[in-house]
Amino acid sequence: MDNDTASSSERSDFVRDIVAADLREGRIDSVVTRFPPEPNGYLHIGHAKSICLNFGVANEFGGRCHLRFDDTNPVKEEQEYIDSIEADVRWLGFDWGEHLYFASDYFEQLYEWALHLIREGKAYVDDLAADEIREYRGTLTEPGRESPWRERSAEENLDLFERMRAGEFENGSRVLRAKIDMASGNINFRDPVVYRILHSTHPRTGDAWCIYPSYDFAHGQSDAIEGVTHSVCTLEFQDHRPLYEWFIANLPVPSQPHQYEFARLNLTHTVLSKRVLLRLVKEAYVRGWDDPRMPTLSGIRRRGFPAEGMRDFAGMIGVARADSVVEVEMLEHAVRSVLNRTALRRFAVLDPLKVVIDNYPEGSSEDMEVTNNPEDPSAGTRQVPFSRELWIERDDFMETPPKKFFRLSPGREVRLRSAYFITCNEVVKDEEGNIVELRCTYDPESRGGSSPDGRKVKATLHWVSAAHAVPAEVRLYDHLFASPFPGSGGRDMFDDLNPDSETILGNCWVEPSLARLPIGETIQFERLGYFCVDPDSTSDALVFNRTLTLKDAWAKLQAQGRQNTA
Ligand code: ATP
Ligand code: MG
Repeated sequence: MDNDTASSSERSDFVRDIVAADLREGRIDSVVTRFPPEPNGYLHIGHAKSICLNFGVANEFGGRCHLRFDDTNPVKEEQEYIDSIEADVRWLGFDWGEHLYFASDYFEQLYEWALHLIREGKAYVDDLAADEIREYRGTLTEPGRESPWRERSAEENLDLFERMRAGEFENGSRVLRAKIDMASGNINFRDPVVYRILHSTHPRTGDAWCIYPSYDFAHGQSDAIEGVTHSVCTLEFQDHRPLYEWFIANLPVPSQPHQYEFARLNLTHTVLSKRVLLRLVKEAYVRGWDDPRMPTLSGIRRRGFPAEGMRDFAGMIGVARADSVVEVEMLEHAVRSVLNRTALRRFAVLDPLKVVIDNYPEGSSEDMEVTNNPEDPSAGTRQVPFSRELWIERDDFMETPPKKFFRLSPGREVRLRSAYFITCNEVVKDEEGNIVELRCTYDPESRGGSSPDGRKVKATLHWVSAAHAVPAEVRLYDHLFASPFPGSGGRDMFDDLNPDSETILGNCWVEPSLARLPIGETIQFERLGYFCVDPDSTSDALVFNRTLTLKDAWAKLQAQGRQNTA
């Protein structure tokens, strides 16, 4: 069976194997996972991989998955990001039920646990400045040095830490550190900072706190509080695992979670990093977090990617331990497969050329019945108005066609899809010699686009009736970054931005039914690609985004691969 048609229940990977074994061998009664975003930006396609994994595992094994905001750094976190993350996870099709949590809900408990470490002689208040701490930490090849404040008494540490909380000290003047091993080969073990002073208003706790726990001090303990069994994160946290385990072992936590790491998703022609995406937004390279070129979930949603395509893609790439870069064409392939099945077909002309049917009665029109989706008979048909003056695509006509051009040209007959056979008789030009109109005749016997006498035409064109068409702006999108590996070879990644990632066509015509297309529904403009209505649309100015072209570059890449290995 093809990867992309394998259902989730047949999926297997090392995380699912571990969960299955833990259940089978009775180490856990049920699986609890979590997706733990920091609300410091919008979610991207990489996060979707993690969401599909964490929620997917919970669903498949009858457990549950929590949505937990890792909101320990008030300087970068905002309510807008919290709201967008919730909306994005729901859009992807997952539900955390009542299990919505915030690390900030645990601040009091975490503080208690910090006091516990101090009392046990396993944490101390350090007065070194941040750069001194860095310098004392040593390097990968040199051990660290102990801080002169390392041997403070528990009493003194308790007093200082309580005063840190009370707001007596300035940002950066002191930190609380776990007392582990300055000579450890693992730098994360060299007395990691567990609390820092930050006089900053938190989106949820306001000004209740001016000390905040580090990621390492918050994450595993939050897992333990929530009864998370499998804490699945990306490989960059592998070196943090011993520390995760140290806190779990040295604190009176209510459960024993375990951390597992998988490879993060990288995609060609884009960057999956909130830091870079934030810069693209702040420096106005794009229209915002939800710009259709952005690899954010709100961006691909606005672009018209269905959530099902995103989920199918997550299934296709699987979950592994080795880092790799996936071709963006594979994501596009997954999306196209869904759209080919589900998208209604519609007529739109992006670069219009006027056609006048001289033998069609002036002032009259008729409705033609057109199939909505040849892949899905249940999608039915619709009525599309036809009249004497039409728009066709400018590049569907050539005055002096080369050998292999079979579309319209002087003296040639073609089919207008589901309408009539027409023949071009005359080309009308303006003073500068530009073609402005084609005079044609139609064969009334070919109604519906079928041949009246068995004679054949070599091309079928789409069209819209000029009197009935609705004007629209259409935005075409291409890769945000021209290079498949932005910033590789020491280049500045921003130099790799694709200057042609957006092309705006302001003079398009679409069939009248599209005036009522809801935002969020993606349709196919026949012969042109998949498109959706952009929220920038107003009642008298429709805006469409091109979701994807019809050409499946991934299928081609794969076919080439198969030939090469055949
Ligand atoms: P970024 O690197 O874009 O800033 P992050 O890892 O800092 O992302 P978090 O909010 O901390 O963002 O991530 C939440 C979860 O999503 C984490 O468990 C993280 O491992 C996972 N995640 C982030 N990026 C990816 C990715 N590219 N592929 C798979 N999982 C990812
Ligand atoms: Mg992170």
